[in-house]
Amino acid sequence: MGDMKILLVEDEREIAQFIINGLRAEHFAVDWAETGAKGLMWGKVNAYDLAIIDINLGHGESGIDICAEIRAKGRTYPIIMLSVINDAPTKIAALNTGADDYLTKPFFVAELVARMRALLRREKTLTGPKLVIADLEMDTLAHTVTRAGREIKLNRKEFTLLEYLMRNAGTTLTRGMILEHVWDINADPFTNTVDVHVRFLRAKIDEGHRQKLIKTVHGYGYKIGE
Ligand code: CA
Repeated sequence: MGDMKILLVEDEREIAQFIINGLRAEHFAVDWAETGAKGLMWGKVNAYDLAIIDINLGHGESGIDICAEIRAKGRTYPIIMLSVINDAPTKIAALNTGADDYLTKPFFVAELVARMRALLRREKTLTGPKLVIADLEMDTLAHTVTRAGREIKLNRKEFTLLEYLMRNAGTTLTRGMILEHVWDINADPFTNTVDVHVRFLRAKIDEGHRQKLIKTVHGYGYKIGE
């Protein structure tokens, strides 16, 4: 599971270093925020695969608030909370604000990594009104799409096509599936309608970006993913 980008929000340097060393040994890339304010800023704007957030960040900052604000921004990556407090109300509060797991200090890095892997393996199908893949975001209620914070104008077909791809991120969709879903069941499967529209969509979504999100799976169709 290389190339995974992890956000670590932890005010204590020794604990942070212990976690960073353990995660880097497992080939995770780690951004360490030593304050809640920095963690919140990075957590909202950067595309992470997972975040690890300490509950007691000092200076009156609470990891639970950081988690809640990241979720309120529509970020759906898994979040693991860390705390020395091992009581049910704190755990429930953390989970209720959108954390996926909770780990009590002290812990072995191996346990943290095992829990991270379990969360990262979790079904990647996206549901709900906000879809996020890397720095590409779609708000299906507001009908807006942004890449790296910049709005992208899509026509109705392109929007429907992108939504279908994003809701099935990581899964290859055949031309037939796309044709049925985005056009209609009677569309002629022998035309190159799908390829033409994917080309237009790709020009708007991927052009000028180093990371290409829309992928051609030769002989099958297309998929979107990191
Ligand atoms: Ca702390």
